[in-house]
Amino acid sequence: MYPNEFEYHRAETIEEALDLLAEYPGAEILAGGHSLLPTMKTGLASPDHLVDIGRIDAMRGIEHGGDTVSIGALTTYADVAASQTVQENATVVTEAAHEIGDVQVRNRGTVGGNVAHADPASDLPGAMLAADATFVARGPDGSRHVPVDDFFEGMYATALAEDELLTRIDLPAQPDAVGAYAKKPSPSSGYAMVGVAVSISIEGDVVSDVRIGANGVVDHAVRLEPVEDALAGERLDGDAIAAAAGHAGDGLDEWILMDDSQASAAFRGQLLEVYTERALTEAAERAGTVTVTT
Ligand SMILES: Cc1cc2nc3c(=O)[nH]c(=O)nc-3n(C[C@H](O)[C@H](O)[C@H](O)COP(=O)(O)OP(=O)(O)OC[C@H]3O[C@@H](n4cnc5c(N)ncnc54)[C@H](O)[C@@H]3O)c2cc1C
Repeated sequence: MYPNEFEYHRAETIEEALDLLAEYPGAEILAGGHSLLPTMKTGLASPDHLVDIGRIDAMRGIEHGGDTVSIGALTTYADVAASQTVQENATVVTEAAHEIGDVQVRNRGTVGGNVAHADPASDLPGAMLAADATFVARGPDGSRHVPVDDFFEGMYATALAEDELLTRIDLPAQPDAVGAYAKKPSPSSGYAMVGVAVSISIEGDVVSDVRIGANGVVDHAVRLEPVEDALAGERLDGDAIAAAAGHAGDGLDEWILMDDSQASAAFRGQLLEVYTERALTEAAERAGTVTVTT
């Protein structure tokens, strides 16, 4: 299939990209192209103008300064997955990046495109919730910081305005936290039917901080706060994990569980509980609080 005709514009700098977005309202931003181009080819999107940001070097790379790891929005999944800095300070993001698509997708797709596109079945949104990310957006009026808890608003909907560019993602450096991502991939597409991302800190021998994000369950990535509450102050052992995972579906009533040809809502609910337990168990193994024999 061929996309409808469009005008192509290449931005060399962030300022140029913002000028182009202001000049052509409704223009789409082209980053890795791995979501936008398929939707254009299938006719689901028909922008008149494309603003290619792929060559803006200032939006690419990983930096560690003070308590923050900053990932440029144009950084590929492959670069995130290979980064020791991210691995050491935000393990859950590394784990999720490894799980995205295949080698081609990981070499072209960008972290900014992934979260800006906000496909409910994408892998990174849940990991960003678990890692407590902050999104840095630039628009005509300057920069603003959006906490991850306010970013994902619905299916393909985020807090970004049409004339804003996501320039980078800041992650709190958490070298003492353990992270894990457990995913049930769709057999046809590889996207997450359900994916659960956890980041846990342990002090003494109890959980001092825990954040859990889930993809694929409702129309946008969500925190599993009842599970977090059940784990707070507990020893991270098998019993606590099983009991906490039993709360995975609590609090999701305000949204509608995804129900499609891949999985019914009831099956998704079951998967959510199972994959929450798997992600927690994997993190507990890493923390040395649980030993799993195979
Ligand atoms: C075969 C295949 C398998 C895939 N499997 C998976 C998978 O298992 N898991 C998964 O998570 N994803 C998967 N994907 C999707 C892939 O991760 C995409 O790369 C991602 O969804 C979008 O990132 P991109 O850089 O390609 O963005 P693009 O496709 O270029 O852009 C997507 C949208 O995001 C917006 N956008 C992009 N960058 C910015 C920015 N900096 N600021 C503001 N808006 C921006 C654009 O307006 C555009 O509408 C798969 C894709 C393919 C083709």
